[in-house]
Amino acid sequence: MSLNELTLLELSAKLSDKTTSSVEATQALLARIAQTQPPLNAFISVDEEGALKAAKASDERRSRGESRGPLDGIPIALKDNIFVEGQKTTCASRMLKDFVAPMDAAVTTQLHQAGMPIVGKLNMDDLAMGSSSASSIFGATHNPYALGHSPGGSSGGGAAALAARASWAALGSDTGGSIRQPASFCNVVGLKPSFGRVSRRGVVGYASSLDQVGPMARTVKDTALLLNMLAQPDEEDVLCRTEAGGDYTKGIEGGIGGMRIGLWKESLGWAEPEVAARVEAAAKACEKLGAKVVEVSCPLSRLGPLAYAIISSAEASSNLARLDGIRFGYAHRGAKNLRELYFKSRGEGLGRAVKNKLVLGTFTLSYGHYEEFFVKAAKLRTLLREEVAQALKGVEVVLGPVASTPAFPLDFSPTPAQSADLDKHTVLANLAGLPALSLPYGFSAAGLPIGVHLMGRAFEEAALLRLAYALEQDSPSFQKAPGL
Ligand code: GLN
Repeated sequence: MSLNELTLLELSAKLSDKTTSSVEATQALLARIAQTQPPLNAFISVDEEGALKAAKASDERRSRGESRGPLDGIPIALKDNIFVEGQKTTCASRMLKDFVAPMDAAVTTQLHQAGMPIVGKLNMDDLAMGSSSASSIFGATHNPYALGHSPGGSSGGGAAALAARASWAALGSDTGGSIRQPASFCNVVGLKPSFGRVSRRGVVGYASSLDQVGPMARTVKDTALLLNMLAQPDEEDVLCRTEAGGDYTKGIEGGIGGMRIGLWKESLGWAEPEVAARVEAAAKACEKLGAKVVEVSCPLSRLGPLAYAIISSAEASSNLARLDGIRFGYAHRGAKNLRELYFKSRGEGLGRAVKNKLVLGTFTLSYGHYEEFFVKAAKLRTLLREEVAQALKGVEVVLGPVASTPAFPLDFSPTPAQSADLDKHTVLANLAGLPALSLPYGFSAAGLPIGVHLMGRAFEEAALLRLAYALEQDSPSFQKAPGL
């Protein structure tokens, strides 16, 4: 078996018993990336030199008996909205095509401390807005299971690379589903941590009250190991928890006997029969494994996409105001005055979907419309939070579909209304700040992966991981690699 086929944990074991080295693993990975890049376009940039240098340093540490832990020497790839000092962070946007990060993101510092070489930056939707990874200025990423299909988005590069065995680990970001939906489309695990569990410092903001960085990997345990590293306090993100998350692999094998699980009625009803059938199969498996499954209802959740559309657009319009060609971003050359400079820089630098968002956001925050839209959406968000908190009093985890369908074809270009609809299973977790995980759980008749969505109580990632691990052991979908 090639090194690339191993799970992160298996590779970690080989590094620790010295049957392979980080340099060997990194070289194998670089070769696999080169081999899969033309069909997939999962990477925006690859840092061969930096990764090999970090790998060599890791091997030297190990030979001195100074390993930094289970992740030391394992290469990782980052979504291209996460800062790595001195390297480009493009957000797959014309606006930031030449932007060089002035510092490391907090999570990047954590990767360095854990000893993980950073192998490259991953493709994504333009400024993390979208669900297809097709709006990247570097061209669309393709789904390894069906090249004519989308890998999902916006963290589609990470999901595609993991599925193609062109990475053992990736970091994505999730504002309304951008880790979980691509994970579901590509047969990998993706976790959006609770809001405040992982620092947002040094990650290009989309909608700051919804954004979270999270781990993506092929297995649940691999994901838990990555979360151990990410779930750290950060004084410079004021909303980040002040204590570390601890060891999420502990208790992960504890089983789900007696666990109460809620089957989310509305979400199940929105899904196509093929997807709903997988969720129902997961519910059955939960019962077989000793959990108690009950139906839960969150009727207001049908309005989640509306609240999300307004809040995310409003926050984006404020966050992205700095991309004006002066402080940051692409600048139109030869503008005659300041107004023209703003107008043309933003006009040429921002993609269509981004502009749509910003126009909506600016409108909903404007004098005379603020009460009518933004304030209402904020109130609705409170009601949604209360409703889901009520449901989570009776159950530990809510189970449902990640998306209504498996991966859609790359030439599907949704209207803004259809786009909002694509996220309706996932936005509730962001609006309520809850942790949620996408777990590979079988395939459609056409061979496309289908994931199930597990959403839990705030800061109780451990329960999600324990349930996901039990389901994965029972039905290890991740083992089915794409026939690339
Ligand atoms: N598709 C959603 C949007 O465009 C979610 C994106 C994300 O989570 N970054 O807003």
